[in-house]
Amino acid sequence: MSIPFIDLAAQQKRLGRSIHDAIEKILDHGAYVMGPEVREVEKQLAEFCGAKHALGCSSGTDALILPLMVENVGPGDAVFVPAFTFVATAEAAALVGATPVFVDVLPDTFNMDPESLKDAIAQAKKDGLTPKVLMPVDLFGQPVDWDILLPIAKEENMIVISDAAQSFGSSWNGKMTGSFTDYTATSFFPAKPLGCYGDGGAVFTNDSDKLELLESIRVHGQGGDRYENVRIGINGRLDSIQAAVLIQKLSIFADELTARDRVAKTYSDALAGVADVPFVREEAFSAWAQYTLKTDKNRDEVIAKIKEQDVPVAVYYPIPLSHQKGYTQYPSAPKGIPVCEKLAAQVFSLPMHPYLTDEHQGQVIDAVKKALA
Ligand SMILES: *Cc1c(COP(=O)(O)O)cnc(C)c1O
Repeated sequence: MSIPFIDLAAQQKRLGRSIHDAIEKILDHGAYVMGPEVREVEKQLAEFCGAKHALGCSSGTDALILPLMVENVGPGDAVFVPAFTFVATAEAAALVGATPVFVDVLPDTFNMDPESLKDAIAQAKKDGLTPKVLMPVDLFGQPVDWDILLPIAKEENMIVISDAAQSFGSSWNGKMTGSFTDYTATSFFPAKPLGCYGDGGAVFTNDSDKLELLESIRVHGQGGDRYENVRIGINGRLDSIQAAVLIQKLSIFADELTARDRVAKTYSDALAGVADVPFVREEAFSAWAQYTLKTDKNRDEVIAKIKEQDVPVAVYYPIPLSHQKGYTQYPSAPKGIPVCEKLAAQVFSLPMHPYLTDEHQGQVIDAVKKALA
């Protein structure tokens, strides 16, 4: 019996007809773009994480681009990003003409290394760049160490845009992701912890003035009137249908987060001592976008053995961003990104979703044990 890496069908079954009904309502009222569902989901998303405002948008990538545009980030500005992440983090900075600066990560949490960040800031200044934005990533769902990173950003007068594409629903010291940085960007790509049925994203902020600018840029730099354009913007809207899907899924999201955490604990209890299991900081509650192991053995062989037992495996991410062909022109921290390079060769992720049965969890655990024996 093959196990799904992510089981969206089980989730759909649990929600019954509710998503169909919500979509049918939109077919009836016909407001496909910026319909009432968009405002409703924005309200619910903000409430869920305790942010003052949420702004729905077309993707997680646009959720990163919108705040960069609000803050006029551009040529000569350094945006500090980890080198071990999905490409969109650095892509957003590059698209506005800024310089993404690649920072190394910590070997245990896979999140931004504060020492590497400090070195990268000093080097960027020497190179004539303005340290403008700190854009850390809560990789695989676990928040970064905000106790250390926020003071660094403050000292350097940097804007904080948190790439929480994988971590909506997580928290740091009891504070929900989205509620405490200048901007938090998340993604509703179907495979993320909270996903819609296509592309979608959201930006969170507590600043009402910034919300107004985000709203304007989301719709072509719109002014007071629909055909007045007061600044350069994008088409970055969230569709009504995606908003409606999210409203239904949000109603069970808290329960799903608990279920994900339970699966992760079961995996870790069974695999500790056998494999290098994920390290979650005491201050953190992870949204468990991925459950990722490390191995010093030949990874291809380990993965092949696990797959032989009908258990799917994925590698996030096989190449650090600074080594990607499109990104080699951008600088890295002065001491390089040795941890990212090592992790890129070591990591592999197991099936992770809230609907993994005990039987399937057992099958995954047995497959990993056998493969690593
Ligand atoms: C998925 C992801 C994004 C981009 O989100 P999209 O909705 O696919 O545009 C950005 N950053 C990280 C870390 C991601 O995992």
